[in-house]
Amino acid sequence: MTANVFTDDFDFENRIVDTSEIPHDTLEGDNPLRPKTFDDYIGQEKVKENLRVYIEAAKLRGEPLDHVLLYGPPGLGKTTLSAIIANELGVNIRITSGPAIEKPGDLAALLTNLNPGDVLFIDEIHRMSRSVEEILYPSMEDFAIDIITGKGQMAASYHLPLPKFTLVGATTRAGQLSAPLRDRFGVVLRLELYSVEELADIITRSSEILGIPIEREGALELASRSRGTPRIANRFLKRVRDFAQVMSDGIITYEVAKTALDRLEVDALGLDQNDRRMLTAMINNYGGGPVGLDTIAAAIGEEAVTIEDVYEPYLMQIGFIARTPRGRCVTALAYEHLGLKAPRNTSTPQPTLFPAED
Ligand code: ADP
Repeated sequence: MTANVFTDDFDFENRIVDTSEIPHDTLEGDNPLRPKTFDDYIGQEKVKENLRVYIEAAKLRGEPLDHVLLYGPPGLGKTTLSAIIANELGVNIRITSGPAIEKPGDLAALLTNLNPGDVLFIDEIHRMSRSVEEILYPSMEDFAIDIITGKGQMAASYHLPLPKFTLVGATTRAGQLSAPLRDRFGVVLRLELYSVEELADIITRSSEILGIPIEREGALELASRSRGTPRIANRFLKRVRDFAQVMSDGIITYEVAKTALDRLEVDALGLDQNDRRMLTAMINNYGGGPVGLDTIAAAIGEEAVTIEDVYEPYLMQIGFIARTPRGRCVTALAYEHLGLKAPRNTSTPQPTLFPAED
């Protein structure tokens, strides 16, 4: 049996690099930092470019936009983008999530209350139940649903036409969507982790809105530790403001950013204790891998989905973890970052942060 090594002294709930949604970040929450138009939405250029064309074309034809699926790790701006889509289309948005729609009737109620052209946003669409999914198909395709009431001889079926609407689905894991559901989205867009420059721009924009003075070097330092994720970047900004007030008249300089994040135990690459302990557990207990996802999860007392959605995308992007058919492996780069010596005869693929161009 694998021992649960780290759960006792470990605070998974309060990770500053946590990407899970904060109440302030829901669309209902009044979040002044959330961009409202494409022009305010920084980065994701390809996604924006495509959406702009589709939205323009739909408007010209006087038709609703095709159904859109947005996928990518949490905190990258899927919810924000769905509201921008509705805004740019000039329609209303209704917001729900896969787990919130418990019964087919719940979805029917939502759909019948839409106005023509409206956007229905379903977050975590991969967590919708099969029975709900089944009435979603005809609604997406034919803009109608068949509802059966009663049982046996009393059963009656009603054909209910719906207004033409646009479904925007968001998911952290496109792979978990059933094929029939995935196929019904005309537009499928993947959001990428943001570059340091883009995150610095997001931080600068947020600091203007919040009235926090920040120097470019300070923004870049926060950005480089934000794991490619705007939600983390904004969270850092708010935390570091306190340090700035005490250290340098409220201005976030490079020194302030560095000192604050060092104190918060977020290292130069944005790794926190949790990441380091996961990597260390893989190294100490399993020789750096290959090790299966569930085994890692059990070893650090974290859920496998959280490891896949939250830890891994960034650790893989910076080349610290490699996925192989036999499991996850820690790369030489990660050993180096942790100040450890990588084993010599490792079969682990060893990507580098700066691959040579050929
Ligand atoms: P997701 O739905 O993918 O989990 P959100 O849309 O809730 O992510 O975004 C999290 C926060 O990050 C938002 O409140 C917003 O302030 C900020 N944000 C996300 N994407 C951008 C962007 N491209 N430009 C500026 N801010 C962004």
